[in-house]
Amino acid sequence: MKEGIKQPKPLPEPNVDFYELAETLPADELAALKQVREFMQSKVAPIITKYWAEDAFPFELLPEFKKLNIMGAALEGYGCRGGSGLLFGLIAMEMARFDASIATFVGVHSGLAMGSIHMGGSEEQKNKWLPPMARMEKIGCFGLTEPLVGSGTGGGLTTTAKRDGDTWIINGQKKWIGNAPWCDVSIIWARDVADNQVKGFIVENKTTPGFSVEKIQNKIALKVVQNGLITLNNCRVPEENRLQQDSSFRDTAKVLRMTRFLVGWEATGCQMGAYENALTYAQQRLQFGKPIASFQLVQDLLAKMLANVTACQCMVARTAQLHAEGKLTDARAALSKAFTTARMRETVAWGRELLGGNGISLDYQVARFFVDAEAFYSYEGTYQMQNLIVGKAVTGISAFV
Ligand SMILES: Cc1cc2nc3c(=O)[nH]c(=O)nc-3n(C[C@H](O)[C@H](O)[C@H](O)COP(=O)(O)OP(=O)(O)OC[C@H]3O[C@@H](n4cnc5c(N)ncnc54)[C@H](O)[C@@H]3O)c2cc1C
Repeated sequence: MKEGIKQPKPLPEPNVDFYELAETLPADELAALKQVREFMQSKVAPIITKYWAEDAFPFELLPEFKKLNIMGAALEGYGCRGGSGLLFGLIAMEMARFDASIATFVGVHSGLAMGSIHMGGSEEQKNKWLPPMARMEKIGCFGLTEPLVGSGTGGGLTTTAKRDGDTWIINGQKKWIGNAPWCDVSIIWARDVADNQVKGFIVENKTTPGFSVEKIQNKIALKVVQNGLITLNNCRVPEENRLQQDSSFRDTAKVLRMTRFLVGWEATGCQMGAYENALTYAQQRLQFGKPIASFQLVQDLLAKMLANVTACQCMVARTAQLHAEGKLTDARAALSKAFTTARMRETVAWGRELLGGNGISLDYQVARFFVDAEAFYSYEGTYQMQNLIVGKAVTGISAFV
């Protein structure tokens, strides 16, 4: 080294947990979270772009996935992982930080499908279904949305269930159902023609005559998740497979409250992934002879991205506390889903902008977060639906039409 010439300082690694949220976990839960991080970093990150580009699910990951033992996080008993709502959220965030599709696969199986059985099933049903689902021997999906009914599922489901002795006959279609083209068990929500109430049914995909699934093609987001159009044509489902503790759409909404809380975490993770990839890029990319990270306008974008990420982390952390205290109302979950997904859209767009032309290339990761964010923004209830739930709670007046 020449005398008098300073070596450049090593640049800091991106720190996407600026306020040290993960550190608030107890030691055993922090260890579980670190295992998830290690899995996502070493097994998922290296291969996921290829699967995304090919519109395919990485089945090769399932054996390693099983070893993580994280299905049924925050659900107690019946072989489920259990643990705190904070761990449940942080796992979703950590997964989405590396890949939104893998986080969604888990959210659908562990949150929506297992959650529906845990909340609405009888003791017998929970004992029968949850242990193999927790071990990932059976994978589940959640069929609520229909081709012609999305936001209006509360009042307008057209899939029908008709009691016939000890069985139910189900007819209808379900659209957009994550995992459906290959999974084993579907939670199907249908309107009982006798009392007009929505009921939940556990349907075995591979052995129920009249049950068929067509894979949805040509998606531009979450391409790793396999979404299906389910058709139920006079499917006979035994009464013992009707969720015994559910009697109306209010029970369906309980599951949605929990999973909207979860999407808030996923949306936070998605922007973390965009932020850290954009920051690393900015430190390395030279223009005008300097790293673009040295330009004031680039630092402004990075600071705004980090502020969005950190604000969302604080918000979802509080929702986890409310969840633990039994105080996570529909409006509180909806506010979190709406706010985090809106901030996420802003953050991933700034990240994509920061990479210039490379921001639209899958080779630089940020593009994947940028497009996948669009699905988080709309699924589990659109931004407008969440705000209508909040609006009703704060004004006392329902604006739903
Ligand atoms: C990738 C992906 C995965 C999904 N996975 C699942 C799944 O596993 N299971 C499942 O059941 N569903 C799933 N969905 C469906 C998802 O929940 C719906 O797409 C979502 O609820 C919106 O319904 P929709 O698409 O029919 O939109 P629509 O209800 O047709 O809404 C279209 C637009 O109109 C607006 N709008 C509608 N009504 C009103 C109103 N009263 N006031 C103001 N604005 C209104 C909406 O906000 C939206 O902007 C998935 C969707 C996607 C894209």
